[in-house]
Amino acid sequence: MIEARDLAKSYAGKAAVSGLSFDVRPGTVTGFLGPNGAGKSTTMRLMLGLDTGAGTCTFDGKPFTAYAEPMREVGALLEAKPFHPTRTARNHLLMLATSNRIPAQRVDEVLGLVGLADVAGKKPSTFSLGMGQRLGLAAALLGNPHTLILDEPANGLDPQGIHWLRELLKALANEGRSVFVSSHLLSEMALMADELVVIGKGRMIANGPVEDFTKLSVRNHVLVRTPQAGELASLIGAKLAGVGSVQRTGDSELTVTGLEANAVGDLAFDNRIRVHELSTHNATLEEAFLEITGNAAEYTAHAPAAAPTTPQEGAR
Ligand code: ADP
Repeated sequence: MIEARDLAKSYAGKAAVSGLSFDVRPGTVTGFLGPNGAGKSTTMRLMLGLDTGAGTCTFDGKPFTAYAEPMREVGALLEAKPFHPTRTARNHLLMLATSNRIPAQRVDEVLGLVGLADVAGKKPSTFSLGMGQRLGLAAALLGNPHTLILDEPANGLDPQGIHWLRELLKALANEGRSVFVSSHLLSEMALMADELVVIGKGRMIANGPVEDFTKLSVRNHVLVRTPQAGELASLIGAKLAGVGSVQRTGDSELTVTGLEANAVGDLAFDNRIRVHELSTHNATLEEAFLEITGNAAEYTAHAPAAAPTTPQEGAR
């Protein structure tokens, strides 16, 4: 369980993160969504005590810095950092393992898990961005931690790599871990996350289960096709009594909010109105976002960033 409370940080008097509080529960993937520059990396550094600022964050009850062997508790992948120029991928992980009293055999396990077993003897400086991300992920998983905190782990992965990452994170959460993962792409998060923490300009915009975002959307509606549209519209209008709406969206078509399809069907039946189509339309996460954020364009760059592919990337 991650409990973040009142996290805040300013750079040169300008707030990068303001009063952020949220929980990340075990058994869930919680997506941390916000456009570039929203404050995601800053928040994650604050959570890990790598940056000075206000607020607190505990991982299973204790701050990150209170753990003597933190890699066994919290696996972190932050912005891509250059790796040691001459050390091999395996040696890089071995060094981390030794300092956290993690058995050496675990190094080969995680190299296999992230798909880097074949290049374990190579220097990470020769790796593509995607392979570097996989190595960072291997390091995060090394101590078999109960909590994962990953900053834009999909960066540099090709579509197969992103699919693999999604399945991996879901599997890790299903084993009871708390997984907190950031992205600036809504489409990516929509498929990966159970819960969302959405920020903009360092402030909380929304926080809750993914389905709650769409449940409240005014874009959820019932579509009715009937040759008696005018008659049915009046009846629905009376029933709604101002809560919801009924619109004539075609000669024989009505769009209704605030009333479920079965209620519309019953109303039509009770009044001997002929109905040719009655269907429910649920808002997509993207539509719900347009409402919440006003302008969600910056969250929704659909195509995954073109990744520098290598023979290893996407091979799984
Ligand atoms: P994100 O990870 O969501 O892209 P960041 O946390 O990197 O956002 O940045 C949040 C804001 O803080 C941005 O406006 C950024 O320019 C600013 N910022 C981040 N790091 C620094 C720094 N070291 N010095 C000054 N400003 C910074």
